[in-house]
Amino acid sequence: MNDVGNGDELRELYRELILDHARNPRHFGKLEDATHSAEGINPLCGDKLKLYLRLDDASTITDAAFEGSGCAISVASASLLTDAIDGISAASADAFVDAVTASLSGSDEDTRDIGDERLEKLRALQGVREFPARVKCATLAWRALRSALRQESAPATTE
Ligand code: ZN
Repeated sequence: MNDVGNGDELRELYRELILDHARNPRHFGKLEDATHSAEGINPLCGDKLKLYLRLDDASTITDAAFEGSGCAISVASASLLTDAIDGISAASADAFVDAVTASLSGSDEDTRDIGDERLEKLRALQGVREFPARVKCATLAWRALRSALRQESAPATTE
């Protein structure tokens, strides 16, 4: 896990947050009464997950869960995702996808501002920006989220 970064205190906190979510993913498992779901595949790393959402009649996400297997970054990102989108509207979740993807793959300092406090913990994943191959691990769950919201039948893939 050296590739997540080490050294200063903040990075160490972020590293611990990622490891915590990777080892004890939140909302892990199948959501039996899901209204939306999508698969995400990152062939480069072998990450594979399925994301489940339950939306109410007003298109508010009332529950989210995921199952699958992958590297620590991909699992931690999916775990943080399910925490972040619980209780928000589908439209807000869709906007989160753009914000997070830009934040994790951008190259400018100013894109590091994700712009929403619900996504604050996602900063922990921004260390992947230095490792382009790992960006796909971090964004996989978010690609799956978009597919699920749009009810696309094909798996979301990073390739
Ligand atoms: Zn991965």
